[in-house]
Amino acid sequence: MKLKVISNDPGAFPCDTCDTNCCKEYTIFVNAHDIYRLSTGLKKSPESFLELFGAKDFDLGIKVQEGLLDLALKQKDGACIFLEKSKDIYRCTVNEIKPSVCKSYPFGFKNGKFIQMDDIMCPTDWDTSAFESMMSIHLKKDKDEWQFYDNLVAEWNETDGAKKSLSEFLKFSFDKVSLVIKN
Ligand code: SF4
Ligand code: SF4
Repeated sequence: MKLKVISNDPGAFPCDTCDTNCCKEYTIFVNAHDIYRLSTGLKKSPESFLELFGAKDFDLGIKVQEGLLDLALKQKDGACIFLEKSKDIYRCTVNEIKPSVCKSYPFGFKNGKFIQMDDIMCPTDWDTSAFESMMSIHLKKDKDEWQFYDNLVAEWNETDGAKKSLSEFLKFSFDKVSLVIKN
């Protein structure tokens, strides 16, 4: 079992002493808002940074001509495509617009209580009390955006989406997010 330490320094930030394990180990699945923010922020097409995965869950997968899919960030050299190493320091090159799951990690709610997830990649435990108020706001937003995405995918799947291409789905998704952002 990995021994973990909670720092006595209330200002301590575990990422400062970590080799960005999370960005190397996890597949980062993304939702419509994540794709919109990355695409508009980087001025790049979603296809340039998205990897297609066969969906494990039939209800949640996107039905398109290419198959039943989930969308995640591409990887490069065994890590997220947006992770870069400079002078022995790894950094996220899209920090301001990184996907919601990246912002949320390693926190969540369990039975309404703010918690640190089990089996995290971080080298030390986090002082949850120091992050609760800031992260609670984000976690609520994250949950809402995933619910929005689930509804969007369900709508697409119910309206003959399987006859259309992934590019058409991405445009549909982009337009839906544009509408809610502008209103
Ligand atoms: S694994 Fe934990 S400590 Fe390391 S970079 Fe990710 S969130 Fe930060
Ligand atoms: S987007 Fe940034 S924080 Fe998220 S996995 Fe990639 S490099 Fe890490």
